[in-house]
Amino acid sequence: MALLEARGLSVNYGGLYANKDIDLDCHTGKLVGLIGPNGAGKTTFIDAITGFTPVSEGKVTFDGVDLAGVSPDQRALMGLTRTFQSLELFEDLSVRDNLMAAAERPKWHSFLTDIVMPGRNERQFKEQVDWALEIMGLQDRADTLPSDLSHGQRKLISVARALAAKPKLVLLDEPAAGLDTSESQLLGQHLREFLEHDMSLFLIDHDMGLVLNVCDYIYVLDFGKIIAHGTPAEVRADPAVISAYLGES
Ligand code: ATP
Repeated sequence: MALLEARGLSVNYGGLYANKDIDLDCHTGKLVGLIGPNGAGKTTFIDAITGFTPVSEGKVTFDGVDLAGVSPDQRALMGLTRTFQSLELFEDLSVRDNLMAAAERPKWHSFLTDIVMPGRNERQFKEQVDWALEIMGLQDRADTLPSDLSHGQRKLISVARALAAKPKLVLLDEPAAGLDTSESQLLGQHLREFLEHDMSLFLIDHDMGLVLNVCDYIYVLDFGKIIAHGTPAEVRADPAVISAYLGES
């Protein structure tokens, strides 16, 4: 059984199917990618899996639990979290405190909720934060305000913040947007390191090079439907994918 299983998942926005009949698996310790052009339904899929938008048809299970009726907060507590396209950093908190906020509260994007990750203490939260900063190569930036950092470093912080809570699966919404090629490659290396620590990742991004280079398995979305899936080599060689998304190169 996969850690995350979507079966026949559809999301209908007032007659428009943004996701249609999607079957997708994420296995523990793997990095799974989802690619597709603008408007294909990638963010909608993350929204549906994390409970930010309702599923119209189909079923999602996480760690064997049917997620129907489970709130985003509860999903986060189960170890299923996400990042957003907007960075949503706390600009008046240091980098370390940005991560601490998330490590302690899985639903970090709203301090209005008082849900604190159960079963862990302050010292463990600090260890998690130092661990995430180290993997991201941001230890020497821990006491800096986010506004004093480059866009690339700010993106790394937003990703590190999601990972600092050590969830089982993190869905990353375009983490490489706005990064140059070398920054994107560095991000990819950092993501692979997190996988070695019992984490699983799901990635959507417009940077095809990043997705093809770092993912173990890739799904291709077109007008809300999965049109191909396989290893990066299989997806790269798929004629439909080549003509639709990858060009001739
Ligand atoms: P991009 O790469 O540009 O971020 P995407 O692949 O993530 O695109 P989505 O943002 O999921 O695509 O959008 C899929 C389709 O669903 C689009 O036609 C979009 O206009 C529509 N859509 C997205 N969110 C909503 C919503 N809340 N209400 C109605 N339609 C929506």
